[in-house]
Parts: sequence; C-alpha cells; structure tokens
Amino acid sequence: MGAQQALCKPQPRAAQLRLYGHPAYTVRMVAAAFAPVRRRPAGADPFAALNEEQRTAVFHGPAEAPPPLLIVAGAGSGKTLTLAARVARLLLEGADPQRLMLLSFSRRAAQALQQRAGRMLHQALGLGAAQPPPELPWAGTFHSVAARLLREHAAPIGLAEDFVIADRADSEDLLGWVRDEQGLARTRRRFPLKGSCLAIHSRAVNAREPLAQVLHAQFPWCAQWEPELRALFRAYTAEKQRQHLLDYDDLLLWWQAMLDDDALAHALGARFAHVLVDEYQDTNRLQAAILQRLKPDGRGLAVVGDDAQSIYAFRAAEVRNLLGFAQQFEPPAALLRLQRNYRSSDAILRACNALMADAPEGIAKTLWSDRRDGALPQWVALADEAEQAGWVADQVLQQREAGTLLRRQAVLFRTGHHSAALELELLRRDIPYVKYGGLKFLEAAHVKDLLALLRWVQNPRARLAGFRVLQLADGIGAAGARRLLDAIAAAADPAQAMQAYAPPRAAAAGWRALHAACGAIAAAPWPQAIEQALAWYRPQLPRLYADAAARAADLDLLEHLAARHRCREDFLADLTLDPPEASSDVVPPQRDDDYLILSTIHSAKGQEWAAVYVLNVVDGCIPSDMAAGSSAELEEERRLLYVAMTRAQHRLQLLVPQRFHVTQQRALGDRHVWGAPSRFLTPAVLACLDAVVPQPPARAAPPQPQPFAGGGIAARLRAQWD
Ligand code: ATP
Ligand code: MG
Repeated sequence: MGAQQALCKPQPRAAQLRLYGHPAYTVRMVAAAFAPVRRRPAGADPFAALNEEQRTAVFHGPAEAPPPLLIVAGAGSGKTLTLAARVARLLLEGADPQRLMLLSFSRRAAQALQQRAGRMLHQALGLGAAQPPPELPWAGTFHSVAARLLREHAAPIGLAEDFVIADRADSEDLLGWVRDEQGLARTRRRFPLKGSCLAIHSRAVNAREPLAQVLHAQFPWCAQWEPELRALFRAYTAEKQRQHLLDYDDLLLWWQAMLDDDALAHALGARFAHVLVDEYQDTNRLQAAILQRLKPDGRGLAVVGDDAQSIYAFRAAEVRNLLGFAQQFEPPAALLRLQRNYRSSDAILRACNALMADAPEGIAKTLWSDRRDGALPQWVALADEAEQAGWVADQVLQQREAGTLLRRQAVLFRTGHHSAALELELLRRDIPYVKYGGLKFLEAAHVKDLLALLRWVQNPRARLAGFRVLQLADGIGAAGARRLLDAIAAAADPAQAMQAYAPPRAAAAGWRALHAACGAIAAAPWPQAIEQALAWYRPQLPRLYADAAARAADLDLLEHLAARHRCREDFLADLTLDPPEASSDVVPPQRDDDYLILSTIHSAKGQEWAAVYVLNVVDGCIPSDMAAGSSAELEEERRLLYVAMTRAQHRLQLLVPQRFHVTQQRALGDRHVWGAPSRFLTPAVLACLDAVVPQPPARAAPPQPQPFAGGGIAARLRAQWD
C-alpha cells in the first residue's frame, strides 16, 4: 500500500494548481490533494477498478520526480488505461498540467487518453458532467508537440519564426522540383522518382542511419545513386530552409538538434516534470533519442508498450527501444507487467495466443481473461470479394438488429484499397460508415486519372477531365493541353479538332498513343472499353508515380467493379454521384449518428470494438505480397494480424475470399486466381476458430428491359422552352 501512502501525503502546490484555469478545480484540487483518496468526500475512488498490477504502475514512485517506469504488457491489458490513471493520479497530487507531456501515436489517441484521465478526475473530485476536464496542452503526437516547441523556441535556435509545415504530398513535390533542378530527371539511367527519394530521406532521418547503410539495407536498387542522392538531399534541405518549410522529418530533427544544446535540453527537461508515452514499441530511434535528451536520468518518464504489436518497422520504428528502455538508465527503469486482458473473450484470446505462439521471437506473453461470454471466433470461406462485401454488410446489419450499434463494429483490412468493394456495397445498402487510414479509393490520383480518361472520351468537351488526361501523356504539359482544349471548345466537331492538333515534337508520340487509345475506348463495347483505357494507362503508371505496383492493384479493382455495370455511363454516374466518401469522412458524422467503422489495421491500433471483421485473410493480403520478402517483414505482418484480432471484444470473423481478384494479371489472362488462406491460419490457429461456409444466394434472373411507348422525350424536353 506504499502507493496509496503517496496519495495520503499532503502536497498542496497552490501555484501550480491555479494553472488549471478553472476556479472550481483549484479549490477542490487543493482539498483533494490534502485528502487521501479513500476518505475524499467529494467523489469516489477513481482507481477502485484497477487491479493490483495496474495500481502499482499508477502509484509507482512519488509524484515529484518519480524514477523511470516501463510497462510492457499484452493487448487489452489496460496499458492505456493505466497511463491515463497515472496522469489522473499525478494531477490529483498536484502536478501541473502545463508541465505534463503526453505523447501518443495519433491525435485521436491522445484525445482519448486525456478524456479517460479527465473522467477519473471528475470521479475523484465529484464534479458534474458539465465541468470540462482539465486541458493537457502538451498532449499529442511527437510531431505536433515538436511543432509547438519549435514555434516557441524558433528565434534562439535559428529557425524562421514563420515556418510552415509541409505535408507528405507537398514535400514530395518540392523534392521532385529540386530533383528536376539538379538535372536528375534527365539522367541516362532512371534516377529514383520523387516518392522513392522522400522515402529514402525519411528512413535515413528517422532511423538515424547513414545514407549508405539505408540504401544498402532498404533500397539496394538505388545504391548506385548515393552521391547524387546526397547532393539532392543537401539541395532539398537548403530549399526548405529558403522557403521556411519544415517537412515531417524536420520536426523531429529540429527538436533533436535543439536538445543538443545542453542548456536548452536542461531547461526543457526541467520544464516538463512528467513525460508519458503510449505505444512506445512503435517509436523510432530519433524519438527515443529525443526522450533520452529530455530526461537523461529518466526521472518523470513513463512509457508503455507491447512488443507483440510492433507494426511500424517499415517506417523505421525500433522495437529495441522498448526492449532496451530499462537499461539505458542507472539504476535501470522499473519494469512492470500487466497480465490480465480485459477486452476480449477467452475464446478470442485463445486464437490470438495461438497466432503468436507460431512467432519465432518476442517476449512470450499469453493473454488470459476470465470472460467466458464469447462464442468461438470464426473464419468464413467466401467465393470472392463481392460475396465478402455482401456477407459483411449482412453480418453488420444482423448485429445491429441484435443490439450492437454500428459504431461498436469495425471492418479492418491490411491496405486502404481492400475495402473498395465493401464501400460500394455499403453505399448501395445505405449503411453509413467512416473510413480511417489509407487513401480513400476514389481520391487516389491514379483512380481519378482513369475515371477522367473515361469521362473525357465520353465527352471531349469536359475540360477538367481533358486537362488531367492530356497531361498524363508523355511530353504534353499544361500549355499544350490548354491549346487543344480551346480548339475542341471552338470546334463544331471535337473529333476534327483532335485530328488537327499538332503537338510539339517532344509530345508527338505521347499524343499519338493517347489519341489512338481514345478512339479504341470510344469504339469498344462496355466493359471492354475499360480494358482499352487500361491498356493505354498502365504503361504510363511507372512514369507518373513512384509506387506504381501498389497503384496497379487499384486499377485492377476498378476494372473488376466496372464489369458489374451495364455501361460506361452507369459506371461513371454511380461513382461520381455517390462516391464512397460522400457519405462518410467528408462530413464528420454527428455525435449521435451511428456509423460503421472501416479502418486499416495500422489505424486501428489501441482501439476496441464489440465485433471485428478482418477482410482478405489470404496470402498476398495478410501477409501482403509487398512485405513477404524477408522473415522480419513476414513477422511484422503476423503482428499486424495479431493487432487486428486483439481489437475484438465479443465477436471476431476472419474472412477468406477464395476466388480472389488478384492484381497484375495480363489483360487477356484470367483476372482471378484461387486465393490461399493466409499462411498465418495454421492448424493450431484454425483449431481455435469455427469454420463457416455460407450458402451462395440464389441469383435472381436479370430484369428484362420494359417496352417503352412514350418516345420522343428529348424532343418534348426541348419543346418545353419553345
Ligand atoms: P492495446 O494493447 O490494444 O493498446 P491496452 O493494453 O492499452 O490495449 P486498454 O485499451 O487500456 O488496453 O484497455 C482495454 C480494455 O480493458 C478497455 O476497455 C479498458 O477499459 C478495460 N480495462 C482495463 N483495465 C481494466 C480493469 N482493471 N477493470 C475493468 N476493465 C479494464
Ligand atoms: Mg493501448
């Protein structure tokens, strides 16, 4: 009970307490800080529900300069809750919210953590629901906290005070521009594209590895360009500085560089009495170095993580940060473990444990729960992705009828585009959803390109579509595109204007190919027209985008969707008038709206839902065929599936479409292959799952066209203006 004694100690710090800014808090907090939790008259003990291990973690050390603390525990064991409780405890004992830094992997996660801590404070202080919880101004992601700190300290550290932050797309464009300026776009052998250059840059910065090492280990096909890349990054850095621009990597780099100054590092370390970090297994070396400089003796530092859930190695996250955390301090940080899982039913945990039992390394952690309330999780064999989409929609609605709100259900997938077919199905059935993570299918540039091409062929006077399409052709720029579009607009017959168009010599071949493709697309019946469109567009992809292979997968899917529409006009209308994002993420749903959650597994970290459906648990998707190169990558894929499965509380379904629409098939080949269930579904895992093989629904006969006797509608509509 040493932990509780700490709470009993009077520690009124009126000056700090006033910083809450809420008079009610100030008065009550002073009273609270003097009163032991058990005898506090104002409210209930907010920590009563914690188990013994969690309490030990919450009350580890005094509130003033506590020694470093590491909590390593499995999924759903209350790590985040414990961190929130620790925040509440520190505040109750007088810690200043302004001096508490709370780092999480997303803004959403940081807000959730604050809310949890706020609820406990409310409970402890007996405050009404209308009373807002105390603000923790320094809660956020590493990047957002970095931005604020840099803004405060810009002048002394030589950073322009008006700096702006560039997002990934802006950074990529700037890097592309510098790449052109340096003449690297015109090299005889193909120089890496701007997206690859940014990925290399980012890896070197975040992993704190020399460029040569990064190239050798991660990008061997670019290793020959080391001197040019180095020069490019030098010029890129100079350009960013000239434009007062910081990219994401710069935020961490500048923060770290700022801490190289001993006096400043000391001042900042003293300013933040407590630094608490969630999901520490997914921090990278740069982030670990920042924490180390901020809190060299570890006092006030508390981190929580689960090595079995480390899923960001591909972005230079370093699980060794977690495993080596304790030993970087003298004396080493206390290591506490939480054993019991509170999230999932015992049946679900058995399947999760079986999955991780196959992993060759890692801290052995067997999740257990005394909840015997759940049915066995299921794996469902489905004919193809269309049936998968229908199945999920049916299940979701059934569960809602049985009392589980849509919001308490989530569909998880490896990659953003895996949900495309489902999104269309949800729209068709009017099931609202919000999608997290990944590009929204129709927002992806390459999907827009292809739709623009179809639109332009349908209507060559459609200027926006034409402007986009023309610039996809090799050699045609904005000026050339504008000239042709002006000519088309002025011509009685657009086809003649296109025929007469004389592009500059450099664009001649590009234009010839595009022009021929437009003719072929216009002449082909549906859905062969989309094949013609793809026959032209696919070869342009590698020139246009760095990650051409991943994008090609979306195109195959688009082709697949196209085949389900009667004609080009229907297809385009369907996607344009009712695009997936129109009913979801664009307008954030109201608080009381009910909506299904769609999320990439990466974005589902730390969350939980009553029912979880995991799409495409087949080889090629989980593990992704892009990440099955090395055993380290494969193990990360296994942990991804583990993260997905451990999100479920009562109900878990792993969906296995069998006739799987696979990418990169030749135009004339079979567009489907028989997908193999994921290699992670070993006999030991399958033994923990119920197998479900749904009966395919009887297909209704297609409706026959009705004879129409009205005739002449077009003429009648014109006549109404006579
Ligand atoms: P993850 O590894 O997925 O991030 P986690 O370890 O952070 O999970 P939490 O999200 O904090 O786990 O908790 C999982 C669930 O268990 C939450 O619903 C939480 O409220 C509940 N929980 C945690 N501890 C307790 C407890 N002592 N009593 C009751 N419920 C608890
Ligand atoms: Mg958590």
